[in-house]
Amino acid sequence: MRLTRGAKAILDDSDAYGVEIALRLAEAAGGAEVILVSMAPNQEVQGVRTGLAMGATSAVVISDPALAGADALTTAKVLASAAQRVGADLVIAATESTDGYTGTVPAQIAALLEWPALTFAKQIELRGTTVSIQRQTEDGYDVVEADLPAVVSVTAGVVEPRYPSFKGIMSAKSKPVEQLTLADLGLSVEIREQVVAVEDAEARAAGQIVEDDGSAETEIINYLAQIKVL
Ligand SMILES: Cc1cc2nc3c(=O)[nH]c(=O)nc-3n(C[C@H](O)[C@H](O)[C@H](O)COP(=O)(O)OP(=O)(O)OC[C@H]3O[C@@H](n4cnc5c(N)ncnc54)[C@H](O)[C@@H]3O)c2cc1C
Repeated sequence: MRLTRGAKAILDDSDAYGVEIALRLAEAAGGAEVILVSMAPNQEVQGVRTGLAMGATSAVVISDPALAGADALTTAKVLASAAQRVGADLVIAATESTDGYTGTVPAQIAALLEWPALTFAKQIELRGTTVSIQRQTEDGYDVVEADLPAVVSVTAGVVEPRYPSFKGIMSAKSKPVEQLTLADLGLSVEIREQVVAVEDAEARAAGQIVEDDGSAETEIINYLAQIKVL
């Protein structure tokens, strides 16, 4: 199955949080570089332009016909290789994308690079070469730390992504966007996982309406017994 995108690809909403967090960390660190990395079909730059307009320094876009129908592991291999190429010491991703949403790419990147994976971060702090996150849990959060380099996945809604200003949009047009192929990364890929079908969610069955003519209680009890709830 090939991914066909009729409309222009845009910055995934969940990635806007990652970009915002990266920009805040860079500002707090006094001017670190924020480099956007995107694997996208057809040299698509629309998504990274939004991140550049928000304030990122530059971008790398990897496109290759051999990536058509790429699975999550292939995507992670490409992104891990690009992260190494740009000399990243902190990779920030969203917890899951809003199209493929396997939620596996950040941990796979970390495994391929042999870097620690700090996942489900609702807050990140950098102290020297230590990254510290608040990892969202059902009951609150864990504080998790690792030495850089590391991969952090951030949950949506943790910060308010900034709107690109007019000046930001104009300056994004001249920011560097490096276009790479698999050969540039020295990679060849074998796509082994395929989405073989896409099914609609089962429609919810219409409920049964019981009108109370004085015997509704019995009717409801009988119904609940019939579906083995009682
Ligand atoms: C049927 C199908 C066809 C596809 N066809 C193509 C294709 O033709 N060309 C192509 O380039 N890709 C293609 N892909 C790859 C797809 O666009 C995703 O990038 C890939 O499947 C990653 O899995 P995910 O979305 O489940 O990632 P998740 O694990 O849910 O993503 C978590 C986070 O990882 C980061 N991330 C994930 N993917 C990317 C990415 N591509 N670039 C930058 N950051 C990323 C984001 O921060 C994201 O929020 C295809 C995927 C599928 C399922």
